[in-house]
Amino acid sequence: MCEDDKPCPKCACMMSRGFLSGFPGSSAVLTAWCDGEPKRKRGFALDSVRIDPKDCVYLQAFRCAGCGYIEIYARAADSINTST
Ligand SMILES: [Zn+2]
Repeated sequence: MCEDDKPCPKCACMMSRGFLSGFPGSSAVLTAWCDGEPKRKRGFALDSVRIDPKDCVYLQAFRCAGCGYIEIYARAADSINTST
């Protein structure tokens, strides 16, 4: 199955591949799924957690151009293109 060319399960319009970011701007932090329970970092803000990057997978999202529905995947095989 080609995940780059898929119809929306809600309205059947075509969906486009993208990614999730917490803040739109000239640079952004990617969102990832991390295995296990969050472990708080001592001495940091209440929402700071310790993360081992090998336990995390970046999320990819597909957005429907018709209705705006978003479908999210966390596939370990997906890589991040770091070329500029
Ligand atoms: Zn749709």
